[in-house]
Amino acid sequence: MTQKLPNFLNGQWQTGSGTGTPLFDPVLGTELVQVDATGLDLPAGFAFAREQGGAALRALTYRQRAAMLSAAVKVLQANRDAYYDIATANSGTIKNDTAVDVDGGIFTLGTYAKLGESLGDRHFMLDGEAARLGKDPLFQSQHVLTPTRGVALFINAFNFPSWGLWEKAAPALLSGVPVIIKPATATAWLTQRMVQDVVDAGIFPVGALSVICGSSAGLMDAIETFDVVSFTGSAETAAVIRSHPSVVQKSVRVNIEADSVNSALLLPDTAAGSESFDLLAKEVAREMTVKSGQKCTAIRRIFVPEALYTAVAQAISARLAKTTVGNPRNESVRMGALVNRAQLVSVQEGLVYLKQQTEILHDGATHSLVDADAAVACCVGPTLLGTRSAQGSDDADRVHDTEVFGPVATLVPYRDLAHALTLIRRGQGSLVTSLYGSDPATLASAALELADSHGRVHVISPDVAVLHTGHGNVMPQSLHGGPGRAGGGEELGGLRALNFYHRRSAVQASTSVLSALSESTN
Ligand code: NAP
Repeated sequence: MTQKLPNFLNGQWQTGSGTGTPLFDPVLGTELVQVDATGLDLPAGFAFAREQGGAALRALTYRQRAAMLSAAVKVLQANRDAYYDIATANSGTIKNDTAVDVDGGIFTLGTYAKLGESLGDRHFMLDGEAARLGKDPLFQSQHVLTPTRGVALFINAFNFPSWGLWEKAAPALLSGVPVIIKPATATAWLTQRMVQDVVDAGIFPVGALSVICGSSAGLMDAIETFDVVSFTGSAETAAVIRSHPSVVQKSVRVNIEADSVNSALLLPDTAAGSESFDLLAKEVAREMTVKSGQKCTAIRRIFVPEALYTAVAQAISARLAKTTVGNPRNESVRMGALVNRAQLVSVQEGLVYLKQQTEILHDGATHSLVDADAAVACCVGPTLLGTRSAQGSDDADRVHDTEVFGPVATLVPYRDLAHALTLIRRGQGSLVTSLYGSDPATLASAALELADSHGRVHVISPDVAVLHTGHGNVMPQSLHGGPGRAGGGEELGGLRALNFYHRRSAVQASTSVLSALSESTN
């Protein structure tokens, strides 16, 4: 039997008392470790985090907590090789894809350490200026932000066991709010190991950081009024969380990051073979294959002028054809596995569903696997589909509604810019769209047209060809989240992320009281 990963709750390492759920290598099919949360006293563990961890964190200033984030960065960097080994085994990712998760997580933590220093030696934040409430300026209102006195429960998806942890934990811990993380079972090992390293280093007060691996049963029941819940995963589970009695009856604040049918748009009047054309083809091929397309931000729909449909199909397909697929331990492999058999089946089913309204422009089935047994490995080649014509783009409702969480995207020809923008909006709200063109005025106006339905608009013009950070890369300085089917959540965006973990209150008082408040650090 493989090792059962211990959970950290109530200030103690505890192993579940159940039979355990095994985690597998998606390429070799071997069992790696087990997770089990059976028998944990969740209400007591949550209360411990709230009372011990929360009080200890709130006693510190932003600057002191920022220093703890910096110390955690050092611990994680020192153990980076172990994280790469776990990711290769449990997520089936090549090194570059592991970097997006592992190094991306550490970078985000480091960014919040730096941002936190700028908040100084305070225990709360002022929100805006004082405003007079009547004719006499003596009585005014000053908004303040103070950390919530609850826990932050994070329920995460399988595709980012490192980044998904730290992009949420960094702003929470900096805010002074203790964290309880429940990683997705399939890839829980990396999250558990990172938390273990940071806990064992004794950086944060006991109770500030807890990890529960295994079943989610009972987690939402342990939530109390001043707790917050941040969820990343499917729309179905999001609906269960949103409607949970703890949320509905206790007005618990919830952030949801769900699925998204993201897009890329090549603007009209772009010539085949132009720089913008090439930038689109390159970015689409990269987005389809990074992490085998298992990125919530990956491009799923590619909008191109109808006259360029064939040329773009050829340019993207030529790049996809070079993608070697298989065992990430083989240096020649450019794309590893899907995370498990359930995801492989889900991608295959999604492809069958989309193919009923599209044609195949590049067939993933033509890719033979390198160093991997097709009967065991959860690997698939990248597939590009297409809706054939502008009319086909209108008719193919499944393309605008369906997120296939793998290396799959659809080329969607449009008649004119207005048509393209209408089709993009049929995604019902997405995390990100990227625009490709060279005219600043047209790019700016298209960006504004799409801003209300997208958390992020990534504009790639030739002048930023080698500078831009990538359509799917989530930078801590920018907002992550999207309206509508993307979940309606907001994460990151620099210090904006701290709002979720603070309560806003308007203090109405005489100007002398408000001066004392502004000068106070406590
Ligand atoms: P999922 O099945 O919804 O699972 C997400 C998490 O919820 C897992 O930790 C899961 O635990 C837990 N969970 C399942 N049922 C629950 C319940 N009844 N109560 C509380 N927690 C529960 O999603 P997934 O398959 O892991 O993730 C893939 C999806 O996530 C994709 O659609 C993708 O677009 C989306 N995603 C979005 C973002 C974003 O930032 N917007 C990022 C990454 C992924 P178990 O694993 O133990 O079941």
